Amino acid sequence: CGIVGYVGPSVDGKALDVVMEGLARLEYRGYDSAGVALVTQDGVVSEKRAGKLANLRGALEEEHLPPATTGIGHTRWATHGGPTDANAHPHRGGADDRLALIHNGIIENFHSLKKELVEQGVQFRSETDTEVVAHLVAAAYGESGDLTEAMRTVVNRLEGAFTLLAVHEDAPGVVVGARRNSPLVVGLGEGENFLGSDVAAFIGHTRNALELGQDQIVTITPEGATVINFDGSPAEGKHYEVTWDAAA
Ligand code: GLU
Repeated sequence: CGIVGYVGPSVDGKALDVVMEGLARLEYRGYDSAGVALVTQDGVVSEKRAGKLANLRGALEEEHLPPATTGIGHTRWATHGGPTDANAHPHRGGADDRLALIHNGIIENFHSLKKELVEQGVQFRSETDTEVVAHLVAAAYGESGDLTEAMRTVVNRLEGAFTLLAVHEDAPGVVVGARRNSPLVVGLGEGENFLGSDVAAFIGHTRNALELGQDQIVTITPEGATVINFDGSPAEGKHYEVTWDAAA
């Protein structure tokens, strides 16, 4: 299972290529489904398929998604809900599905959160533990209008292990990530930045990495990366240079 995020310059809409390349480089970790979401001029679009990346590639060839500068990608190792198209990530949330979210890990307390959301009338489209997080972050974004703050509010309610990435239609050029008991690394480029569950996700583009600590949130834009702790205080990741060779 793996996670990739990308924000790049507005001149070239190559987010899908970068994200798919990252997912291919993470394939060695094993997975049962894959999916992507892009922030395009037509809003957030996503595509997801059970099975190998080839299945997702086939679906993307038929869809012809518009070019995008911001994207996220996921390979899933199912823990809650079987490996189906519906259970594959990204999961969508909010009015008009304006938010897309991906997750590696397990949300231990998803039952009680799901109950609360169902009572509010939220309709679930998957059997995953993850989908609760998509609905909660979308709702929190509705309150704050800030994707980082929305993520921060929600992660403080979650128990378990998670690497989470989210994009929102109203925040083009932004990917927000969070981690607890599960890895997340930032790749720092020139006018473009990357997120990965593993440096393999972006090794073809930059070797300048920033590793997040426990219970931290990162917001990437084309210009940079900002890290905070779950309590909202400023934080610094650990900078390092990736030295191993991943040319293959
Ligand atoms: N628990 C989530 C699911 O079953 C994420 C699994 C993963 O780490 O890929 O959908």
